Amino acid sequence: MHAASIERVGVGTDIHRLEVGRILKLGGIEIEFDRGLKGHSDGDVVLHATADALLGAAGLPDIGEQFPDDDPRYKDADSRTLVSSVVALVAELGFEPSNVDVVIHAERPKLTAYKMAMRQSLAGLLALPPERVNIKAKTHEGLDAVGRGEAIACTAVVGLGRPANTS
Ligand SMILES: [Zn+2]
Repeated sequence: MHAASIERVGVGTDIHRLEVGRILKLGGIEIEFDRGLKGHSDGDVVLHATADALLGAAGLPDIGEQFPDDDPRYKDADSRTLVSSVVALVAELGFEPSNVDVVIHAERPKLTAYKMAMRQSLAGLLALPPERVNIKAKTHEGLDAVGRGEAIACTAVVGLGRPANTS
């Protein structure tokens, strides 16, 4: 089902600017808010940071190289597709996610009510049981671009292992 032990660890970070007239998506979940994240794709910082953490753990080039943002194929792309592609790339090297730990840096909106849905969404994308996916949200206490509500950022750490021998 899932990796027996962690062999590799990777970290990913991302930040996107908040803009009026965009839909806010975090972890593949639509969040009710008066603005959303600006980006070539849907701007989902959680999925982008997670994808980079997966690629980092596998020793592969980052999402900027794999999915160039000047490539029209990725315009307004659903970032869930991107994460699925990355999981497939990692699997080609014989790895699978063992766990993921995510910190969302956002002054607003309050994300508590969405944490379980995001956890389940991410678990589904990574083929992990939800208890191996952790989502935390932190404000920046009014400091910097995140603190002023101009952006939302994310930090993700992913463990990779070899699939457990099920034979
Ligand atoms: Zn991004």
